Amino acid sequence: MDIPRITAEDRKHAVSPLSRQDAKRVASKVDRYRQENPDEFHTWDTARGSVFQYRGWRFYYGSCRDCSDLVTKSRDISRYKDGPTNLGRWPVLCPPCRTANSQRIQAANLARIRALRAEEKAKRDTQREKYGLPQITPGYRSDLYA
Ligand SMILES: [Zn+2]
Repeated sequence: MDIPRITAEDRKHAVSPLSRQDAKRVASKVDRYRQENPDEFHTWDTARGSVFQYRGWRFYYGSCRDCSDLVTKSRDISRYKDGPTNLGRWPVLCPPCRTANSQRIQAANLARIRALRAEEKAKRDTQREKYGLPQITPGYRSDLYA
């Protein structure tokens, strides 16, 4: 079977693809639109606040779920030239409330695990007593020193 070979003559007019970095520098349709309409802005309301979009940035101003304090967040959407720019929900809690909330969740998880371990230990102890086995001490072979 004769395999066709690519010669230097074939490569002469070939277009080499742009590297990823070079491709990012090429202005997209969105970039051209932003360059042609620099002062255009959009605003819209969300469940807990409102968003202001201007020059490839989105600024969120909302109220905290717990203390009704101001919650702000800015996002650079100019980096997202193709594809969706809905980058998840806007923050619900202000920074102090967020810290308090995460600490509350952590404490609840610790308490849950502690209760689960205590329950397992109690179950183990009742079974051990039922069969008349010695107490299990970590690091001590009770079966050797009866
Ligand atoms: Zn708050």
